[in-house]
Amino acid sequence: MKALGADKLFLEGAMRCVRCSVCVAGCPSYSVFKTEGDSPRGRVQLMRAAALGTLVPDARFEEHMDNCLGCRACEDICPSGVPFGYLIDRTHAALQHSGYHRLRKLAIRLGLGVIANRSAVTFVAWLLRPIQWLRLDRFVRLLVAPFSRATARRIDALPRVEGTPFELRDAPQTDDPDVMMFAGCVMAGALGDVQRATIRSLEASGHRVSTPLDQRCCGALHQHAGLRDEARVLARANLGAFAGDAEVCVNSAGCALAMKGYAKLLPDDPRAAGFVSRIRDLSELVGPAPGRPIRPRALRVAVQDACHHRNIQRLGGSATKVLTELGVEVVPVPKGAGCCGAAGLYSAVNPDPAWALLNPLLDAIEHTGCDVVVASNPGCLMFMRAGLRDRKSSVRVVHLAELLDPGDTRET
Ligand code: SF4
Ligand code: SF4
Repeated sequence: MKALGADKLFLEGAMRCVRCSVCVAGCPSYSVFKTEGDSPRGRVQLMRAAALGTLVPDARFEEHMDNCLGCRACEDICPSGVPFGYLIDRTHAALQHSGYHRLRKLAIRLGLGVIANRSAVTFVAWLLRPIQWLRLDRFVRLLVAPFSRATARRIDALPRVEGTPFELRDAPQTDDPDVMMFAGCVMAGALGDVQRATIRSLEASGHRVSTPLDQRCCGALHQHAGLRDEARVLARANLGAFAGDAEVCVNSAGCALAMKGYAKLLPDDPRAAGFVSRIRDLSELVGPAPGRPIRPRALRVAVQDACHHRNIQRLGGSATKVLTELGVEVVPVPKGAGCCGAAGLYSAVNPDPAWALLNPLLDAIEHTGCDVVVASNPGCLMFMRAGLRDRKSSVRVVHLAELLDPGDTRET
């Protein structure tokens, strides 16, 4: 940690905090833990002290850092411009080789090794399909629940594989695309139907879509876990795969935010800035167009704006705008309904606080009387599905692409 004292960006960033507390009220981890060390203000002070060498990080220090969801609501609102995302990612990286939580770090490293490998993700997805279809996961849950509530919650939150995995080789490879499609890793494995719907929605909006074959995972989870070297390898591969001028459609809020950080992750790579400027969310690329076969549906739709869309990217409301323009009835979720708690690996690493965040949000969503919730981040989507399944709710969660899909004939 002391090495961070030599990182000018880190130290200057941490020094900007004037302890004004503006960030505290909007912090989801503070709303659950209610301790100063679990507020953004407290974390900045801890990180600053550790970098200056006036505090030696211990297990408790790491827990405060691990309790952060990385939602960056604090960074978005901070009047002093504290670069919280950079500080927490660098801190996780510095803590990688500490003596605490070694088993957990090893498990995360192994899991992220799988995620970085497209063939391995596809293999796991195919493996999970029959297991989930036969409900063997539910059987295991039944067995472990009396002994470990946290493990049972982890099983609840496991991604459900919906449809066959998305294979890049089956996706369009256009010579002169105006949009390049980013397929993701977990999303390609678990939400293949969403990726196919995304391509159909883009094409129905008049885009020529191509799906680069040599693209890789965005590296968001690696960055958040402190594996910055691994994240850099993935980022460089994507800069090569997405060469050109076409816009890059990233239909996962978390991946898009991480990819918009490539210029900071790879400050010496001249390709990074241009790539970042081409990243678009699906909601920025679709809309009413002459002859467009997207049909409005008789549904009451609530929109969950992911933290990673609202914060820093400032894309909150963009899905609502597209749906409203298409004549869909959008019912508002009360302001302040909060973060869903999914946050990458957070619901797996910290299941209790994650579910404590999810439940009030689901209460608010059910209270709207909606039929469907639209999400634009795979983590939020899958975690909300888990929560709604758990409470046997009739409300369904779909990705924006599924609602816009002109080829979708299901009764959504
Ligand atoms: S809003 Fe910014 S300056 Fe104020 S306490 Fe939070 S991090 Fe510090
Ligand atoms: S990133 Fe989110 S959870 Fe972490 S300190 Fe900031 S507001 Fe709180």
